[in-house]
Amino acid sequence: MFIETSLGKGAGKEKKGHIEVICGSMFSGKTEELIRRLNRALIARQQVEIFKPALDTRYHAYDVVSHNETAIRSTPIQFAQDILLLAGNCDVVGIDEVQFLDAGIVEVAIRLANQGKRVILAGLDMDFEGRPFEPMPQLLAVAEYVTKVHAICMKCGDLASYSYRLNEAKEKVVLGEKDSYEARCRKCFYEGFTP
Ligand SMILES: [Zn+2]
Repeated sequence: MFIETSLGKGAGKEKKGHIEVICGSMFSGKTEELIRRLNRALIARQQVEIFKPALDTRYHAYDVVSHNETAIRSTPIQFAQDILLLAGNCDVVGIDEVQFLDAGIVEVAIRLANQGKRVILAGLDMDFEGRPFEPMPQLLAVAEYVTKVHAICMKCGDLASYSYRLNEAKEKVVLGEKDSYEARCRKCFYEGFTP
């Protein structure tokens, strides 16, 4: 379990920012983990701003919502750059579904962290073909802290790190839920998948 290095207004004389990344497949609890960390920052009376790509409108436009219904209000954004304008004076910036943002998010995360902010990004690390999902690999490289969370394979019950697409669609981005994807382990993923 991830433990914060420092929380609270008094932590450290000068504010030193950093980048945290939470990655994993679908149904691995990325958003739950993001919300857990943001809630703890709120308890520590830190000012928190939350963003997610406007593209992801599966549930409510203004909430970061996880599959188990815990929610925090968030601001939908079109471009990564928008975060720089909207983050203002906050202490913690949370960003969900980062794989749907443009490549500019890497520079944005670095700038926010250099301003002394704690930046927490959550997103899919692999696409439905089991390949790195840009811009996540770049963010994993520049982050101080990386957490990979795992789902449970819906075929065999082992730990799962792949998002298996159940329909024939070939586009990279197919928003969907339990009807279009299932979490699978390496063996079950590649058994059902012809690249
Ligand atoms: Zn399996």
